[in-house]
Amino acid sequence: MTDYLYDAARRLIAFDTVSAHSDIAAIEYLAAELRARKFSTAIQPAELGGVAQANLVAWAGPARGDGLIISGHVDTVPFEGQPGWTRGALALEVAGDRIYGRGTTDMKGFIAQCLEAMREFDLGRLARPLVFVFTASEEVGCLGAEKVGPALRRILGETPVPRMAWIGEPTSWAVSHAHKSIVLFDIAVRGRGGHSGAPAAGVNAIAVMGRVIAAIGAIQEERRANPRPEFRAIFPDAPYDVLNFGTIAGGIALNMIAEECVLRISYRSLPDADPLELYREAARRVRALDLHDFASRTAEAVIELRPPMVVPPLNSPRATPLERALFEATGANDSGGVLFGTDGGWFAQSGIVSLICGPGEMDQAHQPNECIRRDYFERGPGIVRRVIETMCCRA
Ligand SMILES: [Zn+2]
Repeated sequence: MTDYLYDAARRLIAFDTVSAHSDIAAIEYLAAELRARKFSTAIQPAELGGVAQANLVAWAGPARGDGLIISGHVDTVPFEGQPGWTRGALALEVAGDRIYGRGTTDMKGFIAQCLEAMREFDLGRLARPLVFVFTASEEVGCLGAEKVGPALRRILGETPVPRMAWIGEPTSWAVSHAHKSIVLFDIAVRGRGGHSGAPAAGVNAIAVMGRVIAAIGAIQEERRANPRPEFRAIFPDAPYDVLNFGTIAGGIALNMIAEECVLRISYRSLPDADPLELYREAARRVRALDLHDFASRTAEAVIELRPPMVVPPLNSPRATPLERALFEATGANDSGGVLFGTDGGWFAQSGIVSLICGPGEMDQAHQPNECIRRDYFERGPGIVRRVIETMCCRA
């Protein structure tokens, strides 16, 4: 195994690409590395979540159909303030049979493997296009992929947009063709403030939010009670829509009537469902609520469901050439679902069929002292080369 693989991972991890910060320096590094290997490159700048970000598209091979996209996101989840770190998050560290650093698993390790796979690869062997797409802001709603998916036709010009994408998210080299959609939204309750000694003069927003939680929680109970048997195989833990009350904030003092309360909710719907169906159902239930608090029957609270943010689901067909190529290269022999969302949901909206398969381990993603097994890491470049040979080099 070469020093280059480790060096590439070390350099990628050293860029602080937490989604709230710019990824441009990391994208420019990747572009320079791939240009040095004779790839054509295009950097797509985008203002995402108020931050200057960029996606990278790098391509090679003849302008024919049936090419392959290999994709990964460059951003990471935060590490500052996360309890449990005993190592430097931005300094790759090899210890025992593991490599540590934020992004080793999710998912700079895979991107380093792509670079290593191309280090001595003769692009003249490509019979079909090979396209790397490295994205920004995946961890905050796949915002980079939402931008780059529809732009690929323009960026690639003469080269037809490949209909298949391989995304190297952490699966311990298992193959996945499906994930649920993800929807995030806030609910704000506005009551009326005042002294806690005279509750009837106000409306307590926290109290009314309690009704909201019970009403939306009831949706979760109903879904859990009615699992969908056809999804048992790919989502064995939850073959139904799952919902999470993420954060809640309301009130400012013990002796004041809470005037405002904001609840942040996320949910994940089965991949064959309209992602916004549950949002609309939540809105219906909230509209039917008693808007009084428990202290008086006079004034009512006002409830606002804020606009949702959606990451589309992934529900790729089985038995595709890419599935066969990944099985052959990794030794996997079945495909299932993953519990996280990916850029593949947005790629699917542009007609690109995505499969998820990567070296990291799901239980390491987003953890303190994030790490990757060295054997999974070092196997990667060979797997990447083999998939490229199967998909792009055979006549
Ligand atoms: Zn990821």
